[in-house]
Amino acid sequence: MNITAINATDKAIIEQVVAIADAHFAVGYLAPQQVIDYCNSPKNNVFVYQKNHQVLGFCLSAILDKTHLLEYTKDHPRVFECPADDAFGVIKTIAILPKVQKTGIGSALFAHAEQKLIQKSVNRIIIPAWVYADTMPIANIMKNHHYQPWFYVKQFWLDICNDELNCPKKQNNTCICDLHFHQKICI
Ligand SMILES: [Zn+2]
Repeated sequence: MNITAINATDKAIIEQVVAIADAHFAVGYLAPQQVIDYCNSPKNNVFVYQKNHQVLGFCLSAILDKTHLLEYTKDHPRVFECPADDAFGVIKTIAILPKVQKTGIGSALFAHAEQKLIQKSVNRIIIPAWVYADTMPIANIMKNHHYQPWFYVKQFWLDICNDELNCPKKQNNTCICDLHFHQKICI
């Protein structure tokens, strides 16, 4: 198995994870300290796919309660309707080194993260899918794993994009990225 969950002390690996995120999303989207905090939280996981000590891709997963999912989704009404004690598994971020994209690494990381969340008995698994200009990079993986659209938040990063992030998908200097939440009911 080339996939492992990393620790907060794996500095060299964390550097590679951040470099992939910089190339994939925007410089500063994922700070080293955020990866470390992720590793240190027992409900979160950072999975990496490695070959010959090189990180080829990574995936962040988390288990959120309703309060934290509301915070994350900007108090979306669909989340308000959920039972108060539901546990939500979230496969939050997945990115692959450009030269090895479309080789199955993303699918393998996704399947691994999903399996680990199912083992933790979450009620639903949520995928916040990045969408820009009618493109949803993770669409095929979600289709293969039978996820259904749930709701979306338009221009999810608008507040922070212009100040802190420089999203590569900007049009007329404005971030056009939406976040489409998909879900699979587990129990
Ligand atoms: Zn954007």
